[in-house]
Amino acid sequence: MTRDDVSAVVYDFDGTLVDLVVDWNAVAEEVADVLATGGVDASDADLWRMLDLADEADLRPTVEDVISAHECDGARQSTRLRHADLVADHDVPVGVCSLNAEAACRVGLEVHDLAGHVDAVVGRDSVATRKPDPEPLIATLRRLDADGDALFVGDSRRDELTAERAGVAFEWV
Ligand SMILES: [Mg+2]
Repeated sequence: MTRDDVSAVVYDFDGTLVDLVVDWNAVAEEVADVLATGGVDASDADLWRMLDLADEADLRPTVEDVISAHECDGARQSTRLRHADLVADHDVPVGVCSLNAEAACRVGLEVHDLAGHVDAVVGRDSVATRKPDPEPLIATLRRLDADGDALFVGDSRRDELTAERAGVAFEWV
């Protein structure tokens, strides 16, 4: 499948359009502290497991604020990647479907003058589930009014799996 015969193109964000400058170990430590303050032991959990723990403890908004602040900073300092140059060249609607916070995606798109070329942004906190669940990608396509085959471009096995589950063609960066 090429970019010319699809109804929409959706890009992953970090590692695909930009490289976010985020010290994820520092983020995880800060989130673990927030959870510990709320009585949740997250000492053995990775950041994604911490999100689940935060959901269970009704601490998700607080935890999201912490992670999102780091990601927005990281987006302001982010490096533009080669695929970012393709975003403005599509004749079909373009979306972003990311595991990062939606706000951070929007900051990064603004920083690299891409916001005007992207018609829908779905982040980790935009819908109820996260990649590799197919719903975020399906929601992105719905927001683009994509009618027919679409293409998802990403940099991880998780992205590829998301596309498979959504029944969408996938292309590695
Ligand atoms: Mg990525």
